[in-house]
Amino acid sequence: MPVPFDLNRLSREDLQSLVPYDAHHYPGVVRLDANENPYDFPLEAREEIIRRAAASEFNRYPDPMARHLREKISLYIRVPPGNIMVGNGSDELIINLMLAFVSGAKAVVATPTFSMYALNGRVAGAGIIEAPRRDDFSIDAGELIRAGAGPAVKVIITCTPNNPTGNATSRAVLEEVLAGTGALVVVDEAYGEFGGESCVPLLEHYPNLVVLRTFSKALGLAGLRVGYLMANEPVISQLLKVKLPFNLNFFSQMAAQVVLECLPPFQERVAEILAERDRFYRRLSLVTGVEVFPSDANFILFRTALPSADVYRGLLDKGVLIRNVSGPGLANCLRVTVGRPEENEIFLSKISEIMEEGSW
Ligand SMILES: *Cc1c(COP(=O)(O)O)cnc(C)c1O
Repeated sequence: MPVPFDLNRLSREDLQSLVPYDAHHYPGVVRLDANENPYDFPLEAREEIIRRAAASEFNRYPDPMARHLREKISLYIRVPPGNIMVGNGSDELIINLMLAFVSGAKAVVATPTFSMYALNGRVAGAGIIEAPRRDDFSIDAGELIRAGAGPAVKVIITCTPNNPTGNATSRAVLEEVLAGTGALVVVDEAYGEFGGESCVPLLEHYPNLVVLRTFSKALGLAGLRVGYLMANEPVISQLLKVKLPFNLNFFSQMAAQVVLECLPPFQERVAEILAERDRFYRRLSLVTGVEVFPSDANFILFRTALPSADVYRGLLDKGVLIRNVSGPGLANCLRVTVGRPEENEIFLSKISEIMEEGSW
């Protein structure tokens, strides 16, 4: 008789109730759910990536320190390479922050926000304290400092412009948090190219600041998973202890370098997305039963007079995928990505049908 195998006995008790991240993969629909750049890659960048890939050695491990890419990022963001670390998407950097600083301790998260902070925190064995934003989704610096005051709190996480609410937090408010806490303050600027004030200039003044950025949104590289983090060197040294040595594959390192060498077409597209967002915002505000929230990013949060789950399902049945983000502070709210104009038109006509047919 083999020894009985009881998986429940082996599974971590603190993860029993954890629901795995649902990446919502539905082929063949209009995808306005993941805040990606909706435009195809600029041809010259695509061709350069393929040219370099053809001339490279796939049998060799990649540079674990991604030196060339970090030098290019350094020129782009004007932070020395020694203050930059790259990850397999910023998702990996978030879990590295949790592993290096928070396992067995606590992190404060300004909510409602990106679900990955709490999810990665729990996976790393961190306790999560939610510090709710005000009703208009702004950050109350004093509240965040109070929530972060306990000795067990290692990290305070904020996002600007915030996903899914869309609003940015001023640098002055974040500076108040940085000055008022002994914890690390992580500012996720995943949507920084679309709006808001960057906290990067504060790195010289605050040893407790960590800024996260990504190639997944404005820079159109979501499929290749490249994120980066900026911090002072003592913080980076701690993070290197938990970083997987070859976390960023050769192809992604190279492709991200090419993007930074071919920036103008990406910058033109960001400008187009912002103009389209403002038009999209005005059109969406005119739909009956819809309340729209202002956005500094490439997505729009809105509340519906119908249950958001029904709106989400109705849209999916009509071939349009968005995000139902309903939850505490966000009752009946949904988030839609600014896509290409023709995609946004399909969404606008489908949601108008749903809201007009609805019995609210
Ligand atoms: C999309 C997003 C990211 C980027 O994640 P990657 O892992 O770099 O693709 C990070 N933070 C927020 C808030 C996001 O919405």
